[in-house]
This record gives sequence, structure tokens and C-alpha cells, in this order.
Amino acid sequence: MMKRGMIMQTVTLRNGVEMPILGFGVYQVHDAALCERVVSEALAAGYRLIDTASAYGNEAAVATAIDKSCVPREDIFLTTKLWVQDQGYENAKKAFETSLEKLGTDYLDLYLIHQPFGDNYGSWRAMEQLYEAGRIRAIGVSNFYPDRLTDLCINAKIMPMVDQVEVHPFFQQQEAMENMKQLGVQIEAWGPLAEGRREIFQNETLSAIGAKYDKTVAQVILRWHIQRGVVIIPKSIHKERIEENTNVFDFELSVEGMAAIAAMDTGHSELIDHYSAATAKWLNSVKIHE
Ligand code: NAP
Repeated sequence: MMKRGMIMQTVTLRNGVEMPILGFGVYQVHDAALCERVVSEALAAGYRLIDTASAYGNEAAVATAIDKSCVPREDIFLTTKLWVQDQGYENAKKAFETSLEKLGTDYLDLYLIHQPFGDNYGSWRAMEQLYEAGRIRAIGVSNFYPDRLTDLCINAKIMPMVDQVEVHPFFQQQEAMENMKQLGVQIEAWGPLAEGRREIFQNETLSAIGAKYDKTVAQVILRWHIQRGVVIIPKSIHKERIEENTNVFDFELSVEGMAAIAAMDTGHSELIDHYSAATAKWLNSVKIHE
């Protein structure tokens, strides 16, 4: 059985806001009914952080699930993201209001610039103002690697509190993590389970570690993230996995276990390359509205 209190373990952001270390992501859950069901199941399982984005097209379904749950809004840490098409000062302000309307709320817990493309600095000024006006509890970025993150931190009035980047055993982001630590930015992992790539759930190293604790591979990976201080937002459309992914607070990986997983790092992503011209062109071309 899930231990309801334990899932509420938090990290403290640079501005003092408490953020759950474990949340639920809804990328690629396009169908509204499905999204509503899985978010309802996640809330019932004890998750209190929901990670969506305007580009996922499911903010309204997330809102319906929250609305139908008996969990008060203030107990939920709600994240959404600003898409590339909406970058820039005026656009960002408008996109923020659109997201709030879809999410059926009058504030966000965390608003992230989704991608490091387009007019980040215009968006950031808008987000700083929305933050100062008390409409967002924390502001941050996503997919900003050390160069972009450092540049933003140098030029911002309000420093980003979170950077959500790809992190999993095959791509451990040691350099990005150290840079964030120095800058006081909390790291959050997208794709914490490597989106199931490279047959990660059948991986022998991870299975052997799991056998010692009677835990699944997914639980071992999520525990590894938690012990590195990384916020995680695993996604699943299966109720039993949604629950399984919460049972990660009642065991501790040994130094040897952590070292065995550290040795799995390939040092690069197989999902996306944020330094390539093709990625910049592709993400700039994705339109989520007229
Ligand atoms: P992920 O959480 O690493 O992996 C999800 C995959 O793992 C799904 O195929 C899921 O299958 C499977 N899975 C989940 N739990 C499992 C378990 N216990 N046992 C076996 N399989 C399991 O990938 P992700 O969805 O890409 O990343 C998580 C969240 O990060 C997203 O939902 C989104 O909120 C965010 N994200 C952000 C960005 C960004 O650019 N900022 C990019 C990608 C993702 P089933 O669903 O079939 O159970």
C-alpha cells in the first residue's frame, strides 16, 4: 500500500517555496478523457505535483480532474509551460492568461519557459512581473543547458528557480546538475524513466539492484533520482504503475548501488539534441494555436 504522507517529501526552492520531489507528468496524454482519468488516479494515489504544458493540449483535462477530486487547489503544485510560439513579452502575458483559463485557476505554482528558442528574455520579463504580482509562486525554464541557464541567470532580475531537463540513468546530466547547484537552481527531470528507451525496464543492473529491495526497475530509477536531489515527474497511463511509482520512499540505495547506476551514463541524449540547428528549426515550427 502507498504511504500517503511519504509522497509529500519536498525540496525548497530558492524563494522558499516547497515543491514536491515526486510529481506526475502528462506529456503525450492527448486524449482528454484519458488525461482526466490518469490525473484523477494520480491525485488519489497521493501525487500533489502535476506537470503539464500548453503544448500538451491537455490543460483543460487536468483542470477537470483537479476540479472533480476532493484535493484542495492549494494542496496541488501545478506546473505549466510557455510554448516557443508564445515567446516574447506581450505573447507570454497572453499565453499565461490562456493557460490559467484552461487550468481553471487564478495562479500557477510553477511556470516554465518550455524551450530555449525564441524571445526568452521578453518572456522572462513578463514572467518576472507576473511573479512579482503574486500570480505565479515560482518561475523557471526547461531544456536550458549550462550556457543558456547561466546567461539567463546573469541577465535576469529574478533568477529562475527550476530548470526541467532530460535526466535518467543513460543521460545523467552531471555538468548541468553541478552548474544548477552553483546557481541555486533546482533540477527537475523530464523523461526520468528514459521514456522506456533502451529496454530500461529490462536492464540487468537495475533489476539486480531492485531484487535486493524487492523493488521494480522503475522504483529503483526513481529512488536514484530522489537520492541525487532531482525532482521527478514520471508519466504513466496505467493505474498500477501510477501507484507503483509512488512507493519509493521506504528504501535507500547503497553507495554501491548508486555507483553502479552512475556507471550507466552515456553522457548524451538519444531523444533530442538542443544544440542542433534541426531542433531549433523544428521547435520553432510547431504551432499550438492560430
Ligand atoms: P517517462 O516518465 O520517463 O516515461 C514514461 C514511460 O514509462 C511511458 O511509456 C510509461 O508507460 C512508462 N512507465 C511509467 N511507469 C512505469 C513503470 N512503473 N513500469 C513500466 N513502465 C512505466 O517519460 P516522459 O513522459 O517523457 O517524462 C515525464 C514527464 O516529463 C512528462 O509526462 C512531461 O510532464 C515532462 N516532459 C517534459 C519535457 C520538456 O521538454 N520539458 C519533455 C518530455 C517530458 P505507460 O504510460 O504505458 O504506463
